Amino acid sequence: MAIVVLIGVVAAIVFLVVVNLRRKISAPTKPPIPSEPVKREKISKEPEKTSKFCRHCGAKIPHDSAFCESCGKKL
Ligand SMILES: [Zn+2]
Repeated sequence: MAIVVLIGVVAAIVFLVVVNLRRKISAPTKPPIPSEPVKREKISKEPEKTSKFCRHCGAKIPHDSAFCESCGKKL
């Protein structure tokens, strides 16, 4: 029975040591940088509005382009 208690005490000590080591290691490594910057997905969120299709050849072209990139005709 004493061995079981001893193992439990040792396990608790090891656990505390590991936690302290993790705190010491993780504290200085990433101080100033915020962990997760906000991902800007507005560009890829609505691809339908940023692109259109050519009326002549049906190629997908940017919305603000005046000429088709595939066939070269004016839109
Ligand atoms: Zn075209």
